[in-house]
Amino acid sequence: MQGGWNPCFSRALNDWEVEEAELFLGYLHGKRVLGDIDDTVVWTETKSGIFSAKSLYLALEADCPTSFPSSCIWMVWVQPKINFFAWEAAWGKALTLDLVQKRGWSLANRCFMCMEKEETINHLLLHCSKIRVLWELLFSLFGVSWVLPCSVRETLLSWQISSVGKKHRKVRRAAPLHIFWTVWKARNRLAFKDDKISIQKLKYSFLCSLWSEAKLFIVECPQTLVNFIDWLGSL
Ligand SMILES: [Zn+2]
Repeated sequence: MQGGWNPCFSRALNDWEVEEAELFLGYLHGKRVLGDIDDTVVWTETKSGIFSAKSLYLALEADCPTSFPSSCIWMVWVQPKINFFAWEAAWGKALTLDLVQKRGWSLANRCFMCMEKEETINHLLLHCSKIRVLWELLFSLFGVSWVLPCSVRETLLSWQISSVGKKHRKVRRAAPLHIFWTVWKARNRLAFKDDKISIQKLKYSFLCSLWSEAKLFIVECPQTLVNFIDWLGSL
């Protein structure tokens, strides 16, 4: 080669590059270029080449090193907005301050709830000192002794159902999602409406959220909040 050394072309390929080149040429071998047909975008996750949300979801799940708690999120007896938020949180895509920073915004990261630690989705929904009270309430309602895992995803996967009645089981399965939703709404009020944090209000909002949905799918669900709490602890 004239005119100086070019690192791209003047050296011999190493073993890995040779292997990659052979794979690439092997892939091209046998392909034909169809001159009269315009190029189109093809979605390779479906046989038809047409995009579908289901195929995207399956592809994401296949790449995920640990299993995804789909059945712990997509429950028909939980409102879609609560399901969707839990789904976002489990993928780590809810827009907490750490994600905003990763997107290039220069701002201080401090949890709106405790004002002590950095805000991440796992801190906000599980480990924040102000939020612990909701989890302790949940454990006492269902009479369990439990240690919260590190992440939202592991928490949903681990929230196993013990031998409780079918109706209680539905409420119990939905309960962590109602905590997530309650905390997220409270966090947004603090962030955007300059609200003040109130632990009593948080607990009340969580219980009302759980109760109001239980009334929709359990015919004999108690009609007062106090009776509902008693009913949860009745097994
Ligand atoms: Zn916090």
